Amino acid sequence: MDATVVPAEADRKVLVRLDAVEQLYDRKIRILGPIDLEIREGEFLSLVGPSGCGKSTLLRIVAGVLQPTRGRVFLGDRLLEGVNRSAALVFQSFALFPWLTVVDNVALGLEARGLGVHERLKKAEKYIDLAGLAGYERAYPKELSRGMKQLVGVARALAVEPELLCMDEPFSALDVLTARTMRDLVLDLWASPQVLTKSILLVTHSIEEAVSLSDRVVVLKANPGRIADMVDLTSLPRPRRADAPAVREVVDRMYTLLA
Ligand code: ADP
Ligand code: MG
Repeated sequence: MDATVVPAEADRKVLVRLDAVEQLYDRKIRILGPIDLEIREGEFLSLVGPSGCGKSTLLRIVAGVLQPTRGRVFLGDRLLEGVNRSAALVFQSFALFPWLTVVDNVALGLEARGLGVHERLKKAEKYIDLAGLAGYERAYPKELSRGMKQLVGVARALAVEPELLCMDEPFSALDVLTARTMRDLVLDLWASPQVLTKSILLVTHSIEEAVSLSDRVVVLKANPGRIADMVDLTSLPRPRRADAPAVREVVDRMYTLLA
């Protein structure tokens, strides 16, 4: 294939495929599904929906930290069993270890992946740098602003060079301006040739956030969590201004759907 030809969205390799996935609690209360969903190579996919509709549950199933009650998860054509080693997580609460410095927090996941100490530090420093935290390698989380803590969370996830970056409401604990800066930064990292991760799964309750960032948006409805719509935004160029008519139209359509 000609290297300049970008494959059509639908022709891209499937990284993760959910096949009739359901989550039940107490063996009777269905909170999610059945869900069929594909996450494709190179795409920025968002899950939006009201609180409690199962977004975090779905993300945890994709990351392999939660085994679905029913249905199957495939990585390519291989059945996922246990933790998804090709995915890394970013949490709303940052989830940093307060007794570790920035560089040690970022390097932590690399030890589990079998890298030697020198390589761990090199990789951690690369992603700290890309996240804009150069100079803070030896700082402790308590010395950082909330936005900077989340940058550490992003650097830590990217450092393991996962195929898929999974983020669960990563900007919800940040003030409006910091959140905006972080969204731009995540888009820059995603587009950067230095960052190997090329697929992002973002969970958010913000329709505006999903529309400003994503290639595709999965709109979920609650009780049980089901796919209400799948919106393809690949034809909307970035950066997307909230007041652009095409953007407003999609946002309004999603609000109507979720009303
Ligand atoms: P969201 O992230 O969209 O807010 P969650 O995935 O966190 O939704 O939760 C979906 C639903 O599952 C909620 O109604 C929640 O109360 C329920 N739930 C989550 N975890 C448990 C659990 N361990 N036991 C019972 N119910 C749970
Ligand atoms: Mg959640």
